[in-house]
This record gives sequence, C-alpha cells and structure tokens, in this order.
Amino acid sequence: LSTAAEVDELITPSVEIRYTKNLINGKFMDAASGKTFPAYDPRTGEVIAHVAEGDQEDINRAVSAARKAFDEGPWPKMTPYERSRILLRVADLVEKHNDELAALETWNNGKLYEQAVNIEVPMFVRLLRYYAGWADKIHGLTVPADGNYHVQVLHEPIGVAGQIIPWNFPILLFAWKVGPALACGNTVVVKTAEQTPLTGLFAAQLFQEAGLPPGVLNVVSGFGPTAGSALASHMDVDKIAFTGSTDTGKIIYQLAAKSNLKPVTLELGGKSPFIVCEDADVDKAVELAHFALFFNQGQCCCAGSRTYVHERIYDEFLEKAKAAALRRVVGDPFKKGVEQGPQVDSQQFEKILKYIKSGVESNATLECGGDRIGTKGFFVQPTVFSNVQDDMSIAKDEIFGPVQTILKFKDTDEVIRRANNTRYGLAAGVFTNNLDTANTLMRGLKAGTVWINCFDVFDAAIPFGGYKMSGVGREKGIYSLHNYLQVKAVVTPL
Ligand code: NAD
Repeated sequence: LSTAAEVDELITPSVEIRYTKNLINGKFMDAASGKTFPAYDPRTGEVIAHVAEGDQEDINRAVSAARKAFDEGPWPKMTPYERSRILLRVADLVEKHNDELAALETWNNGKLYEQAVNIEVPMFVRLLRYYAGWADKIHGLTVPADGNYHVQVLHEPIGVAGQIIPWNFPILLFAWKVGPALACGNTVVVKTAEQTPLTGLFAAQLFQEAGLPPGVLNVVSGFGPTAGSALASHMDVDKIAFTGSTDTGKIIYQLAAKSNLKPVTLELGGKSPFIVCEDADVDKAVELAHFALFFNQGQCCCAGSRTYVHERIYDEFLEKAKAAALRRVVGDPFKKGVEQGPQVDSQQFEKILKYIKSGVESNATLECGGDRIGTKGFFVQPTVFSNVQDDMSIAKDEIFGPVQTILKFKDTDEVIRRANNTRYGLAAGVFTNNLDTANTLMRGLKAGTVWINCFDVFDAAIPFGGYKMSGVGREKGIYSLHNYLQVKAVVTPL
C-alpha cells in the first residue's frame, strides 16, 4: 500500500484555471452579490481558485436569459441540422482540449488523470455527437383517429431546462444533461456542484466558441440550498433534471411540486449488489468485484457496494479480495500507475471514516484498511469488511468510498430477496457461467441496470436510471429526448 511519503510528491497540473465566473447570456460574470467560494485540490486540501458564488439573483438572471433565448432567440427555430452542426463543433473543440479538461477535472476532483483523459472527456465528446446526431431525427407522428380529422402529434422543445449535477463525474454528467436538452432545441441553466465548478465553466466557454447563441446555455456555480433550490423552485423553469443523492432528490421533487409542477427527472443514489455465484471463476470475480466497488475512489452512484459471495467459494474469494485491496496503489492521481486518488473533499472523507468506524462497532470484520493515508488531503486506505450482515449500516447506506463489504449467501432465491431488500434499485452485477442462473437473477433483480459478467459498461445509447428511490425516469439513449420534449396533438377537420 502506498505510504504517506509517496502521496506527498505531487505533480503540478499542466493547466491554467481561466474560467471562474458564471456564464450568463453568453458572458462570464461575477456573482450578483460579488461573493466567491473556494475550489480545492483534494490531494492537499489547498485552495486552487475562487469561483463566483451564484445564488437566487444569479439564477434569476440566468433563467431570464434562457427564457429570452428560447422565446425570441434563434435556437429553437433554427433548423435541427444547424443545431446539430453547432453541437458537433462543440464536440470537436472538447476533443481538442481533451487533456486540459481532464487535467482540470483531476485537479479539482481527485480522480485519476488516466481515467479523465481516456474515458470521461472522450465520453463527453461521444455523448454530444450522439445527441447531435439525434437533433434532426426528432419527429412526431400522425394518428389514425376519427376519419373526419387529420391528427398530427408534434414533439416540441419543452422550454427552459434547469439541470443540477453532482461532483463525482462533473464533466461527464454535464454532457449527459446538456446534450439531449440542447439537441431538442431547449435552452438550459446548469447548476454545477460546489465541490467541482471548474470543468463546467471551461466547457461552457467551448459551447460559446462553437457558436451557440447567447443565453442558450447558462452555467451557474454555487451551493445547493441557495442556487440549486432557486433553480428547482423557479416559476419560469419548465423542466428540472437532477443527479445527486436521494435526500436532495426528494427536496427537488417538492420544490418542483410547490412551484409550477415542472416535470422532474431524478438520477439518485444506490447500494448496488454484486453477486458472485458458486460456479464463478474466483480470480476473475474478485477482479471485477474490486473494480465494481473501487472505481473512481468508490464514488459511483452505481458502485457494486454489496458484494454477495456464494458460501462455497466465500473463503477463497475473501482472501483474494483482501489481497487485491492491499495491492491497490493509492497516490497522486496524476501519476501513472496510481489506481486510487483522494476522495473529493473533507466532508466525504470524514463520512467514509465514520462508516468504517460504524462497521467495526457493529462487529463486521475489518480485513484490511480502515484508516486515512498521510496527513494532508483526503486519501483513504482501500478497505474490506467481511462478516457483514444485511442490517448493518455499512450494508444499507451509500458509503461512497473505497470500502468493500462482503456478504455470504446460500442460494439464488435468497440472494435475490436480500439484494432487493433495499430502498435503492440503481444497478446490479451478476457473475456466473450459468445462463439459467444469469437469467433468473436478471429477471429477479429490481434494478435499472443489470450487468452480467461485466460492470460499469456505459454508452450514450444505453438508458440509465433507477428503480425505487434510486430515481425517477431514465436518461441517455432515446429516453433523454422524451424528457426534453412536449407533445402537442393538432386536430384538423378534413
Ligand atoms: P447532493 O445531492 O448533495 O448534491 C448534488 C447536487 O445537488 C449539487 O449540485 C448540490 O449543490 C445540489 N443540491 C444540494 N442540496 C440542494 C437543495 N436543497 N436544492 C437544490 N439543489 C441542491 O449529492 P452529491 O453528494 O453531490 O453526489 C453524490 C450523490 O449523487 C450520491 O448519492 C450518488 O449516488 C448520486 N449520483 C447519482 C447518479 C445517477 O445517475 N443515479 C450519478 C452520480 C451521482
């Protein structure tokens, strides 16, 4: 395991922080209040930028710019082909700035640079190109109703979309939200996460450079209870899309209901089971279960955070899972070969350490890890718990950190019941060589995504979202388009 000394030798990121102000109506501007808030480097906890702190007034300005751009501006009226071309130009520009965006993402979030540069920024490009491709393929239909009438069903943009995103995949979720909304001809106000405001502002600049008309995309940095809440409750916002925790999702739903009943899409938390069946190749299962949990420092909504292992292979699995965690290289996320960087901020870091303590107190067995690494920054040892029971809080709550909890099961029906015994239903992983078992589990698991013998496989075209309290609605693929379109029936006598 990496030592504190290794974590101390930090690489200086090769990117300049140029965009710290809110983008409203095509211009970067200070917050109306003049206030700023700090953005941190999670490797050290040091401040790397002061960012304009948007609140109610900035949201009001952004929403009125978006409203004007929707009602009077060229964007919704533009030919879909032209809209598509602008989005494709943004994708080209993001591709050109791939490495800078990735460096900024790592610097402000702590995620591996290799991951940001090879997966997340390229996925931004992929998402934009995917939705740019849809822009001129969105069409309505005609309905064979009463023979005396001609009935057309039109799909129109919904208007001003408010979008609130979290910090764990800042750049990726920005594209995931903005891409479909813009492709459909809407105008947008994005509220980024207070922990990670920098890449959204950089990306916003690239949208301007690509020729997006002013006011079509507005980006406001700021805190949830001020800027986020102002956006969700705004009377002139026609749609709200949120990604974040289940608790905040409930607040967003209420704010939307209490204001103007705007439609809501929610992508929320999870406590996803990863089920290793008795026929599994143990080495491969250990490797995949490790990835399913530890990817992105364990900060994934869909993390395979309950590892259910069949009793026949449990001991061997446990020994190997522990060895895998002990081998994991923790350090500066800019350094090649490092597998785990710091957690995003002190709050998440403290929360994870508290969950580890609660695991120990509830008599789960701490197999390895359990502590911080070094004295500065937010590095946590890769941690494995065995003898975990379903009713322990480490098995029920989202820890959102590098903490694997391993549980034993006896048969398929039992594991389906236990895997489903949660308020969440975002994703599930199944590892087996038996097709019947895979099918039984796939049908029985109440989750928006089931990965069989793979995990975290994402694509712009694959829908994503949760059952139960993991969300409302689906995003990506064609499903995102429906979230941003109104349906109008037009009836004309023949
Ligand atoms: P969070 O809910 O604390 O914050 C998410 C966003 O909501 C931030 O922009 C925040 O400023 C804003 N917010 C907070 N309080 C608000 C309020 N009262 N009104 C309006 N906005 C408010 O979540 P987080 O800790 O940043 O992110 C982690 C959570 O996100 C985890 O639960 C994770 O599972 C979930 N997540 C889900 C998905 C998914 O697709 N289902 C993807 C990524 C993350």
